[in-house]
Amino acid sequence: MLLQNLTWTDAKEQAKKNPVVIVPLGATEQHGPLLPLWVDICLANEIAVAVGEQTGAIVTPPLNFGYSELWETYPGTISFSSSTFKSALHDICSSLIRAGFKKIFLLNGHNPNLIIMQTAAYDLVNEFGDQDISIVAATYIFMAKEECDKIGENFRDGTHANEMETSMMLALHPDLVKMERLSEQVESYEPRRVIAFDQGAIIVNKWPESKVYSGVYGNPALATAEKGQAYFEVLVEKISQFTMEFQEGKHDPTLLSGKAKTN
Ligand SMILES: [Zn+2]
Repeated sequence: MLLQNLTWTDAKEQAKKNPVVIVPLGATEQHGPLLPLWVDICLANEIAVAVGEQTGAIVTPPLNFGYSELWETYPGTISFSSSTFKSALHDICSSLIRAGFKKIFLLNGHNPNLIIMQTAAYDLVNEFGDQDISIVAATYIFMAKEECDKIGENFRDGTHANEMETSMMLALHPDLVKMERLSEQVESYEPRRVIAFDQGAIIVNKWPESKVYSGVYGNPALATAEKGQAYFEVLVEKISQFTMEFQEGKHDPTLLSGKAKTN
């Protein structure tokens, strides 16, 4: 169910049923020479809408911008600062909570957003903790990692404008993918030069530069529409399963007995 199609009186009635509300998050940012700027929010939104259809969860309109400052030298990228993004998340969730919604699922297509989503969730629970709210923050690609690994090279070979994102765009919006530009690929983005995870530490060095990198991390040459359809289906299935469990209260950490809540 799409929130945008409800009237305010419908929304009021829906809130009484305590449904999961999915907020699609992503970015408008460079995705190499092959893919449009729209990828992260497009895919998060398509997955959210499909999950909403399968589970009865309400899906809000997507937030089209996220935290993309690392791609600031790539034209077309539009980024919130981290503080603006966090404020936007706070304000969206506060509005939903004021309307009576208690189960909010921030479903993300751009992983650098995630740590800010987590901080926003902490702040919201701090502010509205007496209202029995629960907030999930997740990047969709990590919610079905094992299943996706069986389909292709996604995680082994990079996660930005890569085989997985290119495949899903080939499946869902083939007219927007410029596979004929594969030969134009220059150096792939090497994340270790920008940010590294060593011995439990995060080492942040510098942002990638458009003069050096094409903006791709991974191998889009491996992409096919068939793989894209398979990724999409497995993600929708796994995230729908999680959404149903969230709806039933199975992820409520306060339920030490592990039994489903029945509100
Ligand atoms: Zn992306």
